[in-house]
Amino acid sequence: MRILVVEDEKKVAAFIKRGLEEEGYQVDIASDGAEGIAMAGEGQYELLIMDVMLPRKDGLAVVRELRQADRRTPVLMLTARDTTDDIVAGLDAGSDDYLTKPFAFAELSARVRALTRRSVMERGAELCFADLRMDPVSHQVWRGEREIDLTAKEYGLLELLMRNPNTVLSRTVIAEQVWEHTFDTFTNIIDVYVNYLRKKVDKDQACKLIHTVRGQGYVLRDV
Ligand code: CA
Repeated sequence: MRILVVEDEKKVAAFIKRGLEEEGYQVDIASDGAEGIAMAGEGQYELLIMDVMLPRKDGLAVVRELRQADRRTPVLMLTARDTTDDIVAGLDAGSDDYLTKPFAFAELSARVRALTRRSVMERGAELCFADLRMDPVSHQVWRGEREIDLTAKEYGLLELLMRNPNTVLSRTVIAEQVWEHTFDTFTNIIDVYVNYLRKKVDKDQACKLIHTVRGQGYVLRDV
């Protein structure tokens, strides 16, 4: 499994590379945004670890460009601050998860496992709920005839909902299952993601599938 680290701080990049290589990943380093785009654009990586503050082109711009070019490689963003605004800016750009600097290697490793698991996970049969269909092999999703483009985390969230239809899932369960985060503050991000997913799945549909259960969480149901 190949991972690209886009990070201009040499010490941090070397620390990540060494740790991940010990866990059996192949790791390349790009030291600025432009180099990051050039390397990631070839599409041979299973995960991008992207610093936000980068010379030549910042991490958010890099992720935005890759998503516009239809590159869906999962992105773990490294931020200097963990305010909700910063995190949402990263998610809006198309990142899948984030880690605040400074971080312990164990935290990085857990995020990397969560983001890459799907590419090595056992593949299952197609999932269906109402007129929603998901192909776990190709990661394609359709509502009726319309194909829906999802980021890796939106896909993970929808997959969790589709594997547990008509079941209320708490934010804590979603955070643990989809992100491996267990912090209370992270639940804001779940709400942001559910809104992204709703816009893609339920917008302009007479029958809404993703429902909020006040004080409890979210549920996939067709009534
Ligand atoms: Ca930096």
